[in-house]
Amino acid sequence: MQDNVDVIIIGAGISGLYAQYRMRELGLSVQGFEAGTDVGGTWYWNRYPGARFDSESYSYQFSFSKELVQEWAWSEKFAGQPEIERYVNFVADKFDLKRAIEFNARVESVVFDDASRTWTVETQNGKKAHARFVLCATGLLSAFQMPPYPGTENFKGQSLHSARWPKEPIDFTGKKVAIIGSGPTAVQILQTIAPEVGELKLFQRTANWCTPLRNQPMTAAEQEEMKVKADEIFELCKRTAAAFIHDMDMRASTEVSKAERLAKYQELYERGGFALWLGNFNDVFTNRAMADEISEFLAAKIRQRVKDPVKAEKLIPKNHPYGTKRPPGEKNYYEAFNQDNVDVVDLRATPIVKITDSGVETSDAKYDFDIIIYCTGFQSLTGELMRIDIRGENGVALKDHWAQGPKTNLGVQFAGFPNLFAIMGPHNPGTFCNITRCVESNTDWITGCIRYVLEHGYKTIQATPEAEAAWTEKCHQSVKGMLIDEMRDSWFFGNNNRDGGVGQYLMYAGSVPSYRALFNEVAAKGYEGFEFRA
Ligand code: NAP
Repeated sequence: MQDNVDVIIIGAGISGLYAQYRMRELGLSVQGFEAGTDVGGTWYWNRYPGARFDSESYSYQFSFSKELVQEWAWSEKFAGQPEIERYVNFVADKFDLKRAIEFNARVESVVFDDASRTWTVETQNGKKAHARFVLCATGLLSAFQMPPYPGTENFKGQSLHSARWPKEPIDFTGKKVAIIGSGPTAVQILQTIAPEVGELKLFQRTANWCTPLRNQPMTAAEQEEMKVKADEIFELCKRTAAAFIHDMDMRASTEVSKAERLAKYQELYERGGFALWLGNFNDVFTNRAMADEISEFLAAKIRQRVKDPVKAEKLIPKNHPYGTKRPPGEKNYYEAFNQDNVDVVDLRATPIVKITDSGVETSDAKYDFDIIIYCTGFQSLTGELMRIDIRGENGVALKDHWAQGPKTNLGVQFAGFPNLFAIMGPHNPGTFCNITRCVESNTDWITGCIRYVLEHGYKTIQATPEAEAAWTEKCHQSVKGMLIDEMRDSWFFGNNNRDGGVGQYLMYAGSVPSYRALFNEVAAKGYEGFEFRA
């Protein structure tokens, strides 16, 4: 391990690895710290059964190396976690990125020294290093959370959280299993283990609008085609609002007849992935009547697919229309409930009172289980950064700076924290973004910014308080008029946080291309909104 470097990178997932590649290209020395025992980040921790992309594999992969694109062939349209983990390892090995990373090293503190204007980073296991720049590649959904129910520690069976899944396989055959939570993670686990279990109960607080992912194996010919078309795909992702391959229909839903709209919804439902969400008429995020119409369309599908009408009604969301939360992609999720041994418990009608030594107790029943799986989500966007004791100029703690919610300039820097950058922190367009596309463009911008600092002989760069206030306000305003602003109980707002959220929209809801344009504009103006010190 190097204890005195130019750049420290926290995290060795998609963004940490790419950042290291770019920093080394700048000729800077790098030390990485990673809590896990290997690379992968999200794809290292979330190794639960059924974990897979919801972006098309060939649109999610790195684009920075043509050679890499040609060397890797995806076996499925939406690859599963084991293959993604292999890919991330392949990238790390190809570019020799592991050498500079200290694994098993969870960062505990990141402290700025006013005199030397450098940072000191310390890990929980006593490692310490100093650097001029710190890049937080800590992810947007990393700080997983358990529900606050009493008794979780008393359960005598096996307790698992989706984001801390063990490496050893788990045998579900004939087991009585509880899944708590019903987001995209729970959907993937439930549909995967349902054929094996003895009994399965989903403890659901909020139903979601799940749509078919339509995963399929890629043939050798398709793999070849994707390599030939790689540049075209990345170019398409640069143009689309969410950096996916799905492009909005330029028409508003109101411009066509109801019959045409329904035919379009059906076609997008057949296409799979996020097509229904991101490839729909251009008022899908703003027109309540359209969202209600798609909700009716999907409710009819659920009623068709789930034979028991009581179960079907429980699985149809009642408190939010389609598109206001990130819709889970599924395969046979609804059909799993046609098994007699798979059921859903509505926690709004009968809330969980406690976890007992033998299972789950709700307000009206006691259930025994062998395994409880918590799919209760993350303290989104800010959680991982807030867990680290980050102290900037004059010893100011980030958690105090963010006491009323996160404040950033362009999502990458915070006033009073010189030379510290977040790659996918709050106020990025993470709600919709095809993550690797945003990771690459954000990291490229940060790289350009650091190059500028070096070339101009400055010591530090940091967000001005004025620019930070303006960007933070712009992020809050960016969601106004959008339907997602009506459904605030989600990780988009941090309101899923078990300790309570601040109720602000935590990302930037403008399109990814508009965010990139702002980035470029700021850089072209000599990093307007940032201040330098020699
Ligand atoms: P999530 O969407 O935040 O869902 C958490 C679930 O836990 C919700 O159903 C929530 O209910 C429930 N929950 C939270 N606290 C609870 C409590 N005390 N009692 C009962 N239920 C509780 O988390 P996630 O499913 O892990 O997914 C997070 C995000 O990760 C997704 O939106 C997606 O962006 C990403 N993801 C992607 C993929 C992929 O396909 N690549 C797969 C999984 C996840 P409420 O809704 O009522 O709060």
